[in-house]
Amino acid sequence: MINKERLFATFIELCSIDSEPTCERLMADRLTELLTSLGFHVTEDDTGGKIGGTAGNLYARLEGTSAGEPLLFSCHLDRVVPGNGVKPRIERDYIVSDGTTVLGADDASGLAAILEGITALIQANKPYPTIELVLTVAEELALVGSRHFDVSQVASRVGFILDAGGSVGEIVIQAPEQIKFTAVFHGRKAHAGFAPEAGISAIQIAGVAISRMVLLRIDAETTANIGSIFTSGPTNIVPDRCELQGEVRSLQSAKVQSHTASLVEVMERAAHEFGGTVEISIVPCYPAYTLDRNSEPAARAARAAARIGVPVRFKSTGGGSDANIFNSRGLPSVVLSCGYEKVHTTEERIPLAQPVLLTEWVLAIIDDSPAK
Ligand SMILES: [Zn+2]
Repeated sequence: MINKERLFATFIELCSIDSEPTCERLMADRLTELLTSLGFHVTEDDTGGKIGGTAGNLYARLEGTSAGEPLLFSCHLDRVVPGNGVKPRIERDYIVSDGTTVLGADDASGLAAILEGITALIQANKPYPTIELVLTVAEELALVGSRHFDVSQVASRVGFILDAGGSVGEIVIQAPEQIKFTAVFHGRKAHAGFAPEAGISAIQIAGVAISRMVLLRIDAETTANIGSIFTSGPTNIVPDRCELQGEVRSLQSAKVQSHTASLVEVMERAAHEFGGTVEISIVPCYPAYTLDRNSEPAARAARAAARIGVPVRFKSTGGGSDANIFNSRGLPSVVLSCGYEKVHTTEERIPLAQPVLLTEWVLAIIDDSPAK
């Protein structure tokens, strides 16, 4: 039923469309065109305007031809930088980029599988339940697109997010909460040669604070990282400003809170010791979720994977996805592995067999849909 040539052509076309976060206009237009031609009713929300982007989230609905319950599939339209000017090509048994950009298989793999699956169903005249799609923008910016999406318009009781690395058959049922923080250290300017004792170095305060932080792997379910330090100035001035940006993640909300508090304490103590100050702002990005293996979306994805003959594996991830948002808003959703490798790097690639298996998986999930 699946047409591999058409699937690969769609995959490659989608990868070739520029779609870095908040610049998804071309991708949103092309998806709208393709889905409309399949019979979907597509609407776009006003998230683009709210987040300074060129496109909003797409919600698409295809009325079912069977009595099955509606099902939600979801992908994101954006990809990480460098994600414009992608030149995908087939090299031996993989689809790869030319090495100067990511491939964008994250998340074109999911989009292509959905398009091919639905096309195949329609052409084969097979019955299908109502299919809903949510295609989000700016997922790669800590899920900012889905955070603006109105989940209440979704009729489906369960969701399948096609958006994880790893082999088809792997099902993500657990993901962490994340917060981001910004800390601005303030010291006092002084001439570094004539009167350094009159100055307070904001860089030195930040350095001492960082040296006291517990970072990276905190425990099996908790991580923390400083991603940026912003400051610049001439060498002859004691710097009075230094900004840090970091994040904390954990599968347990209490651990996010307690580890963040420990970092705040370290930064405030260092600022105090040097006679400086620090302003810290903490922004929650998304909540954690844990779904049972027997929960409806997990069990259905597992049954479908078994039916297409791939090994089923439930896994926990250290990364967030739109499933964090959907789960937190009462729409139980698992994330399906889409087969891509070395994600978020210019070596990103996907074995040719994987998009085909992913399409089969989508079809098997739809076929399993119980009668209403
Ligand atoms: Zn992704």
